[in-house]
Amino acid sequence: MLVRSLTIPVKSTQRITSAAISALARLGIHSAADMLLHYPRDWEDRTKTVPLCEFKRARVCTVVTVVARDWIGYGRMKTLKAYVEDESGRAVLLCFNRPWLEKQLVTGAKFRLWGRFYFKYGEIQSGSFEIEPIEKSTEHGSVLPVYSLCSGLTQTQLRRFTSRLLEKCAAQIEDELVQEIIERDNLLHKSEAIRAIHFPNSQDELEYAKKTLIYEELFYLEIMVGKRVLERKGQKRNAVDSTGLEKGAPFTKLQQRLIERLPFALTAGQIAAITEINYDMASNVPMARLLQGDVGSGKTLVSFMTALLAVEKNAQAAIMAPTELLARQHAENASRLLEPVGCRIAFLTGNIKAAGRKELLKNLKAGEIDIVVGTHALFSKDVAYKNLKLVVIDEQHRFGVTQRSLIMSKGNNPGLLMMSATPIPRTLAFTVFGDMDVSIIKDMPPGRKPIKTHLAKESNEMKVYDYVRRELEQGRQAYFVYPLIDGGEDIKDAVSMEVRLAKEVFPQYKTALIHSKLPDEQKRQTMDDFRRGTIKILAATSVVEVGVDVPNATCMVIEHAERFGLSALHQLRGRVGRGQDQSYCFLVYSDELTEDGKTRLKVMLESSDGFVIAEEDLKLRGPGLIAGTEQSGYMFLGIADPIRDIDQLERARADAFSVLESDPGLLLEDHRIIARVLEEAPPFPEIML
Ligand code: ADP
Ligand code: MG
Repeated sequence: MLVRSLTIPVKSTQRITSAAISALARLGIHSAADMLLHYPRDWEDRTKTVPLCEFKRARVCTVVTVVARDWIGYGRMKTLKAYVEDESGRAVLLCFNRPWLEKQLVTGAKFRLWGRFYFKYGEIQSGSFEIEPIEKSTEHGSVLPVYSLCSGLTQTQLRRFTSRLLEKCAAQIEDELVQEIIERDNLLHKSEAIRAIHFPNSQDELEYAKKTLIYEELFYLEIMVGKRVLERKGQKRNAVDSTGLEKGAPFTKLQQRLIERLPFALTAGQIAAITEINYDMASNVPMARLLQGDVGSGKTLVSFMTALLAVEKNAQAAIMAPTELLARQHAENASRLLEPVGCRIAFLTGNIKAAGRKELLKNLKAGEIDIVVGTHALFSKDVAYKNLKLVVIDEQHRFGVTQRSLIMSKGNNPGLLMMSATPIPRTLAFTVFGDMDVSIIKDMPPGRKPIKTHLAKESNEMKVYDYVRRELEQGRQAYFVYPLIDGGEDIKDAVSMEVRLAKEVFPQYKTALIHSKLPDEQKRQTMDDFRRGTIKILAATSVVEVGVDVPNATCMVIEHAERFGLSALHQLRGRVGRGQDQSYCFLVYSDELTEDGKTRLKVMLESSDGFVIAEEDLKLRGPGLIAGTEQSGYMFLGIADPIRDIDQLERARADAFSVLESDPGLLLEDHRIIARVLEEAPPFPEIML
């Protein structure tokens, strides 16, 4: 049986309460397969002792004795504070909401203790620890899975469910790789790998399980990419028409008109990209191109130039952005730049209300709109185009799984232009976007002053605020970015900091809040006001990470910078330095940040090149650390990370292509399993490649 064919509902495999069933459903776990494929997000190694004194380095795993007790708070809020000791030192256990621990944590008692500890009020403490009486210790000496959870489900429960399920059906799980490869690379059989990814007998076994599952996933990714490459190779490319391009002229008439209206000259990189695209669009094979360029390199304009080409062919273009905010900004720019050269522009998102929407859809269908800009609503069921010839997808990495066929079905073989600022090393781009052509804009518009980046300790934040104040006095604007929307306990969050910035720090300037949970209308209003300069300070989460363009904003303050991935920091920093004035980026980090953490942030001081930063991030991001969110574009992958696992990816690609080249129909006995997997239980939904 293939794992993904184990469609039997979990609830029929064992006894589970209905409350737990609905919690599992919220995690997307319905079937046995779902549960087995809900891989741990981390593992807790209880095989190695980590004494209290090493709490900064890792999760503590030690044996302690309770040496004293104390209470904090009163009445129902009364909380036990237990002082414990191992050979290396002393720490405090805070028993919030766990009154039953009073009976266990009595002076003199001995326990195994696990948990993350931090330094606060002069003590090493933890509020989220686990203990086990020393005599009936069962979990010591094992490597335990740590799953993503949701409310109504505990770690212990999910461990139990998964373990019971494995007992029941692990044995039936079939291999999905060719035996030859399993032997060649010393991989585990699939049933073993699935068991060991959840409950490894050792760190070593866990590594083998990861290696196996990562390889398998990448192999199928490349099989799917490879099939598409072969298909596209089958279509012969020749320039069938060169609409609008006069002999030797690099641009079409409309493109030329737009260029003449611009207050600046195109960069060499933009010109090169447009030339490649013009060539693609003139050929009979639909364009499939990835346009990469660092933040601020001017990709939007390239997409507009491409749209003009479609319009000149009497066709339509759709430009899709990942957020409403960004879509609106593109729509406004499109109106400003493209309406004067004669294009009819429309803006479509999920929020456009009935009457307006009906009218818009009618016009789109009738071909009375040339260029439509919007969110994924552009490809909703009820949207029809008269003659869609170009689809532009901005910030491609944000979309994750997008159904290529759905988008493509809206047009008559439309060309596809994907744009991304996420620095993907060139080799990787070729490997993952196997059947796409790649254009890279390497240069930046001239006249930009390099952004000055500063690191500051949290305890020095007043100095940062003073610096920002001086910029505000000059009439400039500032972003303050926080890792959380609200409810931060140990850390600052956008909601409470907006209040503090407005009331205490900068009372004379207008401040506003922006994050993803606010109603779209409010977000739009806020961004408009910020762009117009009526709002001076924006307290935000990483929603401002993507694409926002306000040239008068010269300060970017990122608090708890250590909590962001370097690529995310780079994207955020790219929000400033977009005008003629000197811009600044302040990375404020916790006073307790380790040396390693500081080294990581220092990369931001030394480089302003997104590619370099991405590579440094890779080198520094040791194994075991959870990957940053920047790779969210590969969310459809369960365990592999094509950037981290680049070596495996290249190997898998070579193997997959050699299989397809020797046996394109997957007819050989050895390859039958691959054909079966693709047919019976494809590992990915139809993905955007
Ligand atoms: P990104 O590649 O990050 O999407 P944008 O397209 O948002 O970058 O461009 C950033 C800014 O640079 C915009 O304000 C845009 O008008 C401006 N810009 C684009 N091309 C040029 C150019 N050739 N010279 C000067 N400014 C440019
Ligand atoms: Mg952009």
